[in-house]
Amino acid sequence: MIKQREPIVAIATAYGESSVGILRLSGNGILEKIKEVVRTKKEIKPRYAHFFELLDMQGKVLDEGILIYYKSPHSYTGEDMVELQLHGNPIILKRALEIMLSKGIRLAKPGEFTKRAFLNGKMDLTQAEAVMDLITAKTDLARQIALNQLRGELSKLINPLRERLIELLAYIEADIEFSHEDIPTITKQDIINVLTDIIGKIEELLTTVKKGEFVRKGINLAIVGKPNVGKSSLFNALLGQDRSIVTHIPGTTRDYLQEQINIDGVPINLIDTAGIRDAQDEVEKIGVSKSIEKINSAHLILFVVDVSKPIDKYDERVYNLIKDKRYLIVLNKKDLGMNQHTFSFFQKDSPVLASAKTLEGIKDLKESILSKVGIFTLDSVNVYLSLRHAELLEKAKITLRETVSNLMSLDISPEILALYIREALSYIEDVIGVITTEDVLENIFSRFCIGK
Ligand code: GDP
Repeated sequence: MIKQREPIVAIATAYGESSVGILRLSGNGILEKIKEVVRTKKEIKPRYAHFFELLDMQGKVLDEGILIYYKSPHSYTGEDMVELQLHGNPIILKRALEIMLSKGIRLAKPGEFTKRAFLNGKMDLTQAEAVMDLITAKTDLARQIALNQLRGELSKLINPLRERLIELLAYIEADIEFSHEDIPTITKQDIINVLTDIIGKIEELLTTVKKGEFVRKGINLAIVGKPNVGKSSLFNALLGQDRSIVTHIPGTTRDYLQEQINIDGVPINLIDTAGIRDAQDEVEKIGVSKSIEKINSAHLILFVVDVSKPIDKYDERVYNLIKDKRYLIVLNKKDLGMNQHTFSFFQKDSPVLASAKTLEGIKDLKESILSKVGIFTLDSVNVYLSLRHAELLEKAKITLRETVSNLMSLDISPEILALYIREALSYIEDVIGVITTEDVLENIFSRFCIGK
């Protein structure tokens, strides 16, 4: 079952100075390959921490550290593996990498270690995907969800569906082959019952996909409103102490500000469209600027209004821009008193009254943000589907529904019935990766970092 592939190497730790930097190697005969460049006092034994010296191409010591050898199949990839713990200096790690490349060991592709672990049956596809989720989790909740999936919690929900369909197929196929013999058969009603039950389970799982996406990638929240209503102040008030570990998101243009905060474990990508400072008439420009893009890609819009003043045409214009989207009205500057007309105008929208200055109402605002995007009971679920899982399960559900409706209305032959069930089964099996094509794997693992 375990296949040892060509040897690969990668730096497994993040770039930069640190106390330890790790070089990871895996593949057929890996220990033999590096024998000339690693020097240990004793013979290398699996699972022992050996003090070692790393020698360069001229035989000079480049660095010293700890070597651990994992013998197949007892390793992350299932292959023979070596991990070299060196001093965490990018120069050392780069040189160490070059030494390994000179020994004919190839640089690993992104996610290649995990891909090999999957191909060697060390984990199924949902678990392999969870590795990346775990590395990139931005909040503690996201980490927990990823860890659950890595430990097979999602597979535990998917596998029984697969097993039941296989069992059903066995009955139906036996019926096809031995229809005249005296073997126990299954009634049409039994089949309908099993399929309906499976559809119900799939539907239950599908309800988690939206939350899953939110927890993994965050909720995009755009703050809009005319100038001076307090957008930037609210942005800062929300940032407060809840600023998550990620500060500036790389790659974003500076036409707007984006920061990530964490509300009850849900990462919120906070976008302050007021970043457009030089526009003469911000509201005028809003229709053509980056802001409109941000409004369109936002899961939720915070429309900020100055509650101490009467609303004007600029407020109305912004309102018109967002009113068909999912929005939450923030009546800001509450501390300056309330304009009754403004308050009544927005009352039907259940606005949040707040003050970015005194921070009154900010806690309510955070709760409203989560409830507006439909996150109430985050703690009760322990795994969330990803879009890839959901797409496949959706297809399985549609196929099974069609099967049930055909079973109820037509007299379909066992052969056709088996075809339907096999199709649904194939979608479910794709979730955990029973049989996968190189395209699917490429798509999943190319998103990984190198060294994982
Ligand atoms: P933006 O143009 O919408 O981003 O608004 P700013 O956040 O820059 O705020 C405009 C002005 O309003 C600043 O002088 C803020 O100090 C003030 N401001 C913002 N929020 C409040 C609030 O809740 N109460 C009071 N009294 N002033 C506020």
